[in-house]
Amino acid sequence: MSHDVMTGQCQCGELRYRLSGSPLSCYACHCRGCQRGSGSPYTVSLLVGRSDLEVLAGTLGERRFRMPSGERSWQGCEACASSLWYASPLAPQIVAIKPGTLDDPERYQPVAHLWTQHTQSHVRFAEGATCFEEQPSLDVLVELWQARSARVEGDLS
Ligand SMILES: [Zn+2]
Ligand SMILES: [Zn+2]
Repeated sequence: MSHDVMTGQCQCGELRYRLSGSPLSCYACHCRGCQRGSGSPYTVSLLVGRSDLEVLAGTLGERRFRMPSGERSWQGCEACASSLWYASPLAPQIVAIKPGTLDDPERYQPVAHLWTQHTQSHVRFAEGATCFEEQPSLDVLVELWQARSARVEGDLS
């Protein structure tokens, strides 16, 4: 397993963070909650261990709110309100980073598209993309990620 160290920051640059350790999965979600929360057709989430994240500069703000699927915690820059990651208080050891905030935003690419029953008509998928009409289990997302990581490491060796 490779142990990556990456840095990222918010839109205004006050909040900087460091990510170490290997992500658990990465996926794009097209659900209405993600569309409303981001104002965009879909969001990308990179699942990482909370203990692998370290805030280097700036003030991390937090808002808690309730969704039909449970309570959520938004965490982001207190100054510019960029979303950095979301957490569920039920599983606080895992957070979903918004990988567009990484200094290398293409380093991690989604292994699947979720809630494609709500995909907006102008969005196009890459050929062979894995799509789920609704929410697959976390295990499925982790397995897809591990399968891709194994292929990539196989290609490099
Ligand atoms: Zn900021
Ligand atoms: Zn979603």
